[in-house]
Amino acid sequence: MEHQLHDRDRVGVQDAVLLEDFNNQDVFVDNLQKRFKEHVIYTYIGPVLISVNPYMELNIYDKKSVKEYHNKHFFEVPPHIFAITNTAYTSLKDENREQCILISGESGSGKTEASKKVLQYIAEVTDHRGEVEKCKDKLIFSNPILEAFGNAKTNRNDNSSRFGKYMDIQFNFEGNPVGGNILNYLLEKSRVISQTPGERNFHIFYQLLAGANEDELNKLDLKRSLSSYYYLSSGQQNGSSGINDEKDFKEVKKALSTLDFTENEQMDLFAIISAILHMGNIGFTEEEGVSFIAKPEMVENVSKLLNCDKNLLKQALLERTIKTNNEELTTPLNRDLSVYARDALAKAVYDRVFTWLVKKINKSLQPKDNRRNVVMGILDIYGFEIFERNSFEQLCINFCNEKLQQLFIDLTLKSEQDEYEKEGIKWQHVEYFDNKIICDLIEEKHKGLIAYMDDECLRPGDPNDITLLAKLDKYLDYHAHYISHKKADIKLQKIMGRDEFRLIHYAGAVTYNVKSFIDKNNDLLFRDLREAMIRSKNGILQSVFLESEQQSKKRPETAITQFKYSVNNLMNILKDKEPSYIRCIKPNDSKRSDVFDFELVSHQVTYLGLMENLRVRRAGFAYRRDYQRFLKRYKCLCKETWPNYHGDAKDGVTKLIAALKFTEDEYQMGKTKIFIRHPKTLFSTEDAFQLK
Ligand code: ADP
Ligand code: MG
Repeated sequence: MEHQLHDRDRVGVQDAVLLEDFNNQDVFVDNLQKRFKEHVIYTYIGPVLISVNPYMELNIYDKKSVKEYHNKHFFEVPPHIFAITNTAYTSLKDENREQCILISGESGSGKTEASKKVLQYIAEVTDHRGEVEKCKDKLIFSNPILEAFGNAKTNRNDNSSRFGKYMDIQFNFEGNPVGGNILNYLLEKSRVISQTPGERNFHIFYQLLAGANEDELNKLDLKRSLSSYYYLSSGQQNGSSGINDEKDFKEVKKALSTLDFTENEQMDLFAIISAILHMGNIGFTEEEGVSFIAKPEMVENVSKLLNCDKNLLKQALLERTIKTNNEELTTPLNRDLSVYARDALAKAVYDRVFTWLVKKINKSLQPKDNRRNVVMGILDIYGFEIFERNSFEQLCINFCNEKLQQLFIDLTLKSEQDEYEKEGIKWQHVEYFDNKIICDLIEEKHKGLIAYMDDECLRPGDPNDITLLAKLDKYLDYHAHYISHKKADIKLQKIMGRDEFRLIHYAGAVTYNVKSFIDKNNDLLFRDLREAMIRSKNGILQSVFLESEQQSKKRPETAITQFKYSVNNLMNILKDKEPSYIRCIKPNDSKRSDVFDFELVSHQVTYLGLMENLRVRRAGFAYRRDYQRFLKRYKCLCKETWPNYHGDAKDGVTKLIAALKFTEDEYQMGKTKIFIRHPKTLFSTEDAFQLK
């Protein structure tokens, strides 16, 4: 701490609460910049950790560093992800409180790396014996599997997670990990069929082609060259520095075995991955509006790999059967629809296989006994997205971020204020924006955006994207956070297209294009394709398609409604836990370790709501303890309370702080707790205690 204070000019302050001008965003960002230039990537806002991606290996995660943070108080050591993890873990272990670590930030800001560091710390400070070690291995090895199938190289991040992930680590009464459970959200399945220039498909495709031996390649009917496969052809072809697909494939296979995937399951899995590659190569011709398969042997390849009936598959790619009340109507598809069906199948198969993977992993992670375990959850999920062009996927992601912001407000801002009120502490009210109004706009029953979208999707007749937009404009126009394209032309508002609407999110305005909304929300896979898959003899396929068939008999939920349910389910899981926040920031767009883009960082600081957070913290108190515990720890520092004090704890603390000569502005006495404004006051008390 001393050292830090002397170096203020050079490395800035380690807690933004210590900034003199805490209302000034430039000062705040400048502090991050100073630290970044010195390769100091962690900074606090009270208990919230800010992490700026260093884009270089730092020597701060080795065993020695773990030791430095183990069992230390948060304020005694410089900011670090290990400090946050240690605090959460100690609270879990000593006080039996369930924890969640919420990691947010935009793509490439370091969320996934942060989640791995949390796991690393836990793995190192817990037992290294028998079942515990085995469980930790499994938790750690679940990463390479999920990353192989769920991550891809994008223009922002060579290893970008294309799905959201929440992982529970379950601890036994000794505080050792004994199990885990993973929830996955919204895999970006469109990546399976096409990629933006410079980006890649999911890692597993390249890993398989680079890592499988000749024998395996033969069995899967694969050639090594990427250009042989249409589904890989729009993406980056040449090898990418920093990615070693061959080595990664070995790691994935090892991980699969560690997590109890049998040889058979692995074979089925890779057969499906190759089948998807072959599927992309099925071409169609068209005569008089009817589509034909260009090279029938391509379909044979696929059906062989998927172990399904080739005629059924062929038919399903060329025709569509619609069941009306008691009739079956079969119509031929044209070429475009055949291509659409083929791509839809590839996406559906991949998406379901991913979910199957997660289920299998979870099965292997189940704890051996059913005793009650205490849980620490880690959430690594895409942050707010604002692109040139925003679609259905961005709407889902941004909705999720609105909900997380709500949770943040609930858990920290509100509870902070509530506590001061409850304790009768003098407290200067802090204005903050409550984004509930936006959450409601999106998800409210019967009259939210999702409800209208579903209405339109399920409406008989010919619902399409434009009729959907008309409906939204009609019913939501009144809302302050909804801007229709008709309204937007007025003055300052950027002009929008006729197929767009805009939402004013807590993090800023986002313009959405409704193209494909209906399609994506319905997320239909032609019946015929589903049936062909159910009859497959590939164990994985059979199970995933049968399962969804059974579900869909009840009532088909649209994609966004399913997502809404899973987001609300997540909120329920999180809301009873003690949260720790890690806010990740990307210093530049070029993955460089020596560039701090002030503008870019300022944007992220805004989207993450950090200034708001800082204001609340700064107006508040850094430390609080109930009187009994405070007295118990420090009573030796005062003649009147040492060695035994029998009176009221609050009176005791009053005597104690008089002896410590706290000045009036340093603390306040609440009904049950003492509040200390500044960590420094606490430090000096601690020092006196240590000297004693
Ligand atoms: P996100 O999950 O937020 O998209 P990642 O965690 O995948 O971002 O990080 C992107 C890349 O940035 C990583 O592959 C790594 O190269 C680098 N990186 C992130 N965090 C760190 C860190 N703490 N130390 C060193 N490099 C990091
Ligand atoms: Mg990630």
